[in-house]
Amino acid sequence: MSKPETEPVLSVRDLVVQFPTRRSVLTAVDSISFDVAPGEVVGLVGESGAGKSMTGAAIINLIEPPGHIAGGEIRLNGERIDNLSQEDMRKVRGKRISMVFQDPLTSLNPLYRIGEQLVETILTHLPVSPEDARHRAIALLEEVGIPAAASRIDAYPHEFSGGMRQRVVIALALCAEPDLVIADEPTTALDVSVQAQIITLLKRLCSERGMAVVLITHDMGVIAETADRVAVMYAGRLAEIGPVRDVIKSAKHPYTAGLMGSIPSLEAEVSRLVQIPGSMPRLTAIPSGCAFHPRCEQAFARCRTERPQIIKTDSNDVACWLHETVPAP
Ligand code: SF4
Repeated sequence: MSKPETEPVLSVRDLVVQFPTRRSVLTAVDSISFDVAPGEVVGLVGESGAGKSMTGAAIINLIEPPGHIAGGEIRLNGERIDNLSQEDMRKVRGKRISMVFQDPLTSLNPLYRIGEQLVETILTHLPVSPEDARHRAIALLEEVGIPAAASRIDAYPHEFSGGMRQRVVIALALCAEPDLVIADEPTTALDVSVQAQIITLLKRLCSERGMAVVLITHDMGVIAETADRVAVMYAGRLAEIGPVRDVIKSAKHPYTAGLMGSIPSLEAEVSRLVQIPGSMPRLTAIPSGCAFHPRCEQAFARCRTERPQIIKTDSNDVACWLHETVPAP
């Protein structure tokens, strides 16, 4: 993995998330490791059930019981956060880590004016007067591109379009000046043109404010436009991780190569939507060896029995036996 040179804001090491059931223990996230540097957008991408949202939920410690972190470490600016009490974690969420979800109404209360919600969040986290908090709220709304912010601040969430509401949610996420933003499918519910605006906004805010962003999406096109690095997940495991341009230009994992085929090509004016045959395995039936082997056209005998660990290459790192180099004798 090409590591960020600066101290990472977020460091995830060998993260394991499990769900005990009556019959067995299901592993939803299986030994995932990655870092996110200040000012960097790292995309977590994969099909539904790949474990990407579960990884996000683990970082903010909001896994639905009986699911729990069963192994590994999560550090925020060097400090472990995976073992904090619920109360200490509540302080971290909202202040040092903010979230942006697909549905803006997960974050916004429809009964309150957006200004009240922004001001309250600012006052909770920053030592400023109510008057300063309102000025800050207006400035944030301007920063995320809400026109006539000084008057729109007194509107209710339903008075905004979907795209504008998502901008308000992003402003809300910035209120406490967090170190890390976790954005889970932030553009999925929006029109394509609005999607592009929100992506541009997230990217700009990330580099201007030096925030780290974890962008969770099933859409490789969104990753291509937004992320600096991308981690491709499959069946709870990392398949490939690397700089986004390397992963897009020369995907090394057959699964990533398949996902790449699903980026619509605007230049060719045709959509290169390629379906990878088969579907993501259920947690109760993760195949032996490489979890992708039943769907992989390049699978060979070893793939069915031995699980590939992440293999470092000069660009992307990849969990695939095709890239194992045999050491010289
Ligand atoms: Fe395909 Fe084998 Fe590589 Fe898995 S390890 S992606 S089955 S070639």
